[in-house]
Amino acid sequence: MARVEGKTVIVSGGASGIGAASCRLLVREGAKVVVADRDAARGDALAAELGDRAAFMALDVVDEASWIKVVGDTVVRFGGLHGLVNGAGVGVATDVETSSLGDFRHVYRVNGLGVFLGCKHAVLAMKGNAAPGSIVNISSVLGLRGMGRSPAYSASKGAVRLLSKNVALHCGQRGYPIRCNSVHPGWIDTPMIAPRLEMTVENMTGRQWLEGLHPIGRLGTAEEIANLILFLISDESSFSTGAEFVADGGVTA
Ligand code: NAD
Repeated sequence: MARVEGKTVIVSGGASGIGAASCRLLVREGAKVVVADRDAARGDALAAELGDRAAFMALDVVDEASWIKVVGDTVVRFGGLHGLVNGAGVGVATDVETSSLGDFRHVYRVNGLGVFLGCKHAVLAMKGNAAPGSIVNISSVLGLRGMGRSPAYSASKGAVRLLSKNVALHCGQRGYPIRCNSVHPGWIDTPMIAPRLEMTVENMTGRQWLEGLHPIGRLGTAEEIANLILFLISDESSFSTGAEFVADGGVTA
């Protein structure tokens, strides 16, 4: 028995990195998946690779009309909605003195407001379902602990952590069949951090420096985070809601 058979899941940021690995794994385990991203070329290519249990839909997570269209089109195309992975995200490598207002707004809008809009429209679509629904919001270890870089990223990921608890409590208190949890990866080898791996930090490559932050001695892979996301979308995690799931190679230990 496949682990998410019969479920339809939207994955924002599904065209790349952790989102793409999640799309591949969810389809392999029986789900129908909407690869939802602003990158049409990569999203289309992934949906084509995954076959008729996947579709690409253009999504800009900061645009509410775009969410309404993707959620509505998903229900029409696949007959329902049972899960959402809020994976779209951006980062800017600045500190509190060098961050412009524009940088802060951009990162906070995509990573914070984008997750709120996704949660809102997934709850509206799933609250009347008989079948269980699950929302997985990708935060970060930087939503759990501080770091003196990327203030907008840290602030947005902290917001995602508590927004997830808010959504979980709202749904639980109203008897909606919807769980909501946050995932907190350490540094994962995806296109998002590729530029940082080439930088020089404290006489090391960025890769060596980042690897050194992890007691396990390496960066994580997108597939390792996708495994956790699969568990949270599946009914195997049916007693987990409003919780923080850390996969960070020991960073927060
Ligand atoms: P990635 O850059 O490989 O993928 C991010 C995807 O989000 C891209 O396909 C991009 O097109 C999409 N996206 C960006 N803005 C969008 C928008 N406005 N609307 C729709 N799609 C948009 O990055 P990743 O590393 O796979 O990151 C996935 C999530 O995991 C992000 O939320 C990120 O913050 C988080 N995360 C990543 C790491 C890491 O080290 N890579 C660590 C912790 C958390």
